[in-house]
Amino acid sequence: MRAAVVEELNRPLVVQNVPDPECPPDGAIVRVGANGICRTDWHLWTGDWAWRGVEIKPPFVLGHEFSGMIEEVGRDVTNWRKGDRVIFPMNPGDGACEWCRSGNQHICDSGAKLVPGVSYWGAFAQYVAVRYADVNLVRLPDTITFVDSASMACRYMAAFHGIVDQADVRGGEWVVVHGVGGMGLSAVQIATALGSKVIAVDVSEKALAAARELGAVHTIDSRVDDPVEAIRALTRGGAQVSIDALGITETCCNSVLSLRKLGRHVQLGHTTRKEAGYVPLPIDVILLNELRLYGTFGMQGQRFGTMLAMCEAGTLKPGLVVRQKVGLEGITDVLEAMADYDTTGVVVIDQF
Ligand SMILES: [Zn+2]
Ligand SMILES: [Zn+2]
Repeated sequence: MRAAVVEELNRPLVVQNVPDPECPPDGAIVRVGANGICRTDWHLWTGDWAWRGVEIKPPFVLGHEFSGMIEEVGRDVTNWRKGDRVIFPMNPGDGACEWCRSGNQHICDSGAKLVPGVSYWGAFAQYVAVRYADVNLVRLPDTITFVDSASMACRYMAAFHGIVDQADVRGGEWVVVHGVGGMGLSAVQIATALGSKVIAVDVSEKALAAARELGAVHTIDSRVDDPVEAIRALTRGGAQVSIDALGITETCCNSVLSLRKLGRHVQLGHTTRKEAGYVPLPIDVILLNELRLYGTFGMQGQRFGTMLAMCEAGTLKPGLVVRQKVGLEGITDVLEAMADYDTTGVVVIDQF
């Protein structure tokens, strides 16, 4: 099969023929229909996450947010067959630990070993192997295209889980999204669909324009205005919900400080090498205002029903977050642009 291979960190990917993946007894081989290029790919390609023990050893094939068609199933798989259209949530479970058994396989104890494109060769290729197919695969309705659904396996589902399941966003609430890249734009669209009033904050006018298109009622360029002051003025005291969709100290602190009393902060962005997992937060503000902080890491397969039904009804339109499509040869340019935050929305590979 053809694949885009990382032969050296930080160097252009090499498109070449590699052996087809082998199907595990509990898993499946998916013919990749579309695969989103994510900031996680950039973190891995640059070695930015070595401090947290998350690193790839070249040669390696990235790619963890994909949808496609089942090509082959393992002998232990009962729910799926060749030709089924599927999404594979990027943080899968083994179905056996206490978290999986309580319906939370996205935080599975074995999860770190099971992620294609992170733990083993992924979907910047024609085919990819997935584990525990019966536990993790989600059926993709015929009305939703592979391109529109690719980022649902990662950024879009994480935004949905954070907003709907964790922060329980209600109509009429103010929701601030700090950082409107692929995940932030997804959050803007989902929060708007739920009837909340969304304020988007970013340093890129292109990103802010995309946020307005997807429903943001106010946008703040944080190079020009102090976002915390501007949000407190717009919302008369702070937002009910604020999301850090980037994961750097500035966006995380600004998010917490944007909240009114009893406000809910949602952490969607991972930190970078600079923060190395730690961000100093205004603890007294959190205490005095009784703020709540929610971590969000992807979403479990069984929660896709609500999200896909909203897509089929036209309430959610994940395809609008996709701003660019490339072939395997175009991946390197996208990864290089990510270093300067110079991509808008989600970029999807749709030719292999
Ligand atoms: Zn991703
Ligand atoms: Zn598990």
